Amino acid sequence: MHVLILGGTTEARRLAELLVGTGPRVTSSLAGRVAAPRMPPGEVRVGGFGGAEGLAAWLAAHHVDALIDATHPFAGTISFNAARAAATAHVPLLALRRPGWVAGDGDDWHPVGSLEEAARVLPALGERVFLTTGRMGLAAFAGPGPDALWFLVRSVDAPEPPFPARMEVLLDRGPFTLDGERELLRTHRIDVLVTKDSGGAATAPKLVAAREAGTPVVVVRRPALPEAVPEVATPGEAVAWVRLLSGQVRARRG
Ligand code: NAP
Repeated sequence: MHVLILGGTTEARRLAELLVGTGPRVTSSLAGRVAAPRMPPGEVRVGGFGGAEGLAAWLAAHHVDALIDATHPFAGTISFNAARAAATAHVPLLALRRPGWVAGDGDDWHPVGSLEEAARVLPALGERVFLTTGRMGLAAFAGPGPDALWFLVRSVDAPEPPFPARMEVLLDRGPFTLDGERELLRTHRIDVLVTKDSGGAATAPKLVAAREAGTPVVVVRRPALPEAVPEVATPGEAVAWVRLLSGQVRARRG
């Protein structure tokens, strides 16, 4: 049984930890965007496959029996490629996707459909912006409108231009603590927070800190993702799916 995990997330790494050493051969795939990624256990391959066709060819060449798309909810291209490749190569596919965040009492959330829309609503919400949408896509905030704004940009690796004219970069990687997030909002006198609806616990404390401080939050909604793919929310559920499948594969192979 060979399981390929499309990774780049905490959940993908956790899934590899749970599966390695329990029977199946486990390969994790990383896109190669982060300079020094946290490596999962088991086999790891890095870099794109060359679209859905390339991924389908990889699945066949490496005799993959099960594909798990555990990529970030905002990595829509690879998720659609996984759906097409799995269908072409006749490999069962499961999506491991953490649920999105839900606004609670006291939250002042402003949902938007894109980073560009986030940039458009910002000037009405404040001048000092805490931008936590990653180092890609900063061009959306480099336009003439947001020039009057100041940005605190938090990302794992340093962003590349184009980026906002007035910004400070904070290189850091989650998980983050509530105390740390409170301190950050306070010392940088943040007026407004911008986040993707990534979900998960590792980066959620910023939302609690924003709620406590009465800080508005611009939340970028998730992109469209393949709908016909069976989906689970936790690495444990994905392990159960692999076990079920491995029983079926064993029975088929006699
Ligand atoms: P994307 O737009 O969906 O994918 C762009 C291309 O990158 C894909 O077509 C594929 O290239 C390659 N790729 C993406 N994930 C891959 C993987 N796990 N293994 C091998 N190739 C992969 O993805 P993205 O938004 O740039 O994100 C890249 C990676 O970073 C993802 O694996 C994701 O889990 C992780 N990540 C993304 C975000 C985010 O906000 N987007 C946040 C945290 C982590 P080919 O077509 O050549 O196969």
